[in-house]
Amino acid sequence: MPVNPDHGPEAVELARRTAEFVREVVIPAEEEYGGVTAAGGEALRTRLQEAARGAGVFAPHVSPEYGGHGLDMRGRALVFEEAGYSLFGPLALNIAAPDEGNMHMLEAIATPEQKERYLRPLAEGRVRSCFAMTEPAPGAGSDPSALTTRAEKVSGGWRIEGRKWFITGADGAAYAICMARTSGEPGTRGGATMFLVGADNPGMKIVRHIDTLDEAFFGGHCEVLFDDCVVPDEAVLGEVDKGFEYAQVRLGPARMTHCMRWLGIARRAQDIAVARAADRQLFGSRLAELGMVQQMIADNEIDVAASRGLILQACRELDQGRSGAQSTAIAKTFTAEAVWRVVDRSLQICGALGISGDVLLSRFLREVRPFRIYDGPSETHRWAIARRVVRRHLDGRTPGAQP
Ligand SMILES: Cc1cc2nc3c(=O)[nH]c(=O)nc-3n(C[C@H](O)[C@H](O)[C@H](O)COP(=O)(O)OP(=O)(O)OC[C@H]3O[C@@H](n4cnc5c(N)ncnc54)[C@H](O)[C@@H]3O)c2cc1C
Repeated sequence: MPVNPDHGPEAVELARRTAEFVREVVIPAEEEYGGVTAAGGEALRTRLQEAARGAGVFAPHVSPEYGGHGLDMRGRALVFEEAGYSLFGPLALNIAAPDEGNMHMLEAIATPEQKERYLRPLAEGRVRSCFAMTEPAPGAGSDPSALTTRAEKVSGGWRIEGRKWFITGADGAAYAICMARTSGEPGTRGGATMFLVGADNPGMKIVRHIDTLDEAFFGGHCEVLFDDCVVPDEAVLGEVDKGFEYAQVRLGPARMTHCMRWLGIARRAQDIAVARAADRQLFGSRLAELGMVQQMIADNEIDVAASRGLILQACRELDQGRSGAQSTAIAKTFTAEAVWRVVDRSLQICGALGISGDVLLSRFLREVRPFRIYDGPSETHRWAIARRVVRRHLDGRTPGAQP
């Protein structure tokens, strides 16, 4: 990845070591298991994480107090892209979703006791976690205000009732961060609260693994039932009724870290396609010398470079403590679509080989498609981007001016 003045020497060195680690240790494991983390199970996760610790690249995002390297968002952009060069890289470095986003949020809002109990074991890779927000219709999805899961105050704690789905990593997670309504009605924003719910709570049940297009996320995507799920007052993460605000603390950076990781896969797809185009002879020339293939290679390069620039711009704002609402939405929308285009073109360049399991391109294609839906579908982001632009125009209009 090109380095620029935004990146400090520690991040540059960590990115270099991460690239080396991914090439030598992670990609062989990814190829062995066909890019499906579940195929290697807990033993694979432990082995890769131990190797990452040994290579000094483990937990680049967490503060040193919790055993990490404490990179800012711009530093993460550099390192996460290198880790994302393999589907198994984020798992190895302990920066896979949803754990990485949960660590970020716990560092920002958990109490010291909650940090010791929930953040430390997660940061050290001793446990996994999940984030339970989305519900089957008519509940929360693109529109969080549709939230139907409720938490009622009971003596000494809260009782949570509701059904969630598409909860990544729920099976095997030590705990869930569950978003539940604590005031207002579905369809009105009202107030939501985040609760830390231990997997040993008899009121939290994994109903099923949802069969999905993608398979690279550890623990799959589950439907989870909260049924008479009683948690103590200490399970409240942050303050009651502030859950929607906290979700923004998690979502802006989490959107960007997803982009960084998937950008790594886009680059890998391009490398596979370029290697093939440089070798394959067709119609009396190299494939790479045919104009339409050159166009695809060039468009891939443009999509990767443009995504990287947008991610870095958004990270710069987040590092400055700004909300980054508009810049993260722009970067997420563009990158999710660009990564899909890059993988799709790369597969096209490889012909039938791209469809086969002999290279991982068809696996990458299946893995990147859902990114245009989670962390906000492209349409939701475009709608929000346009609304901000129009609001800016209306706010800036002088009284009496022509509309
Ligand atoms: C692989 C995967 C992993 C996930 N992991 C998690 C997880 O760990 N935890 C969790 O809580 N959730 C998770 N989700 C859920 C994800 O966050 C939701 O799928 C997403 O928020 C969209 O909600 P929805 O699926 O209910 O779609 P809906 O809200 O029903 O939206 C359907 C479609 O409507 C369109 N649309 C949306 N907004 C607008 C608009 N303003 N204008 C026009 N059209 C619009 C879009 O095309 C959208 O795809 C995951 C989803 C996937 C696919």
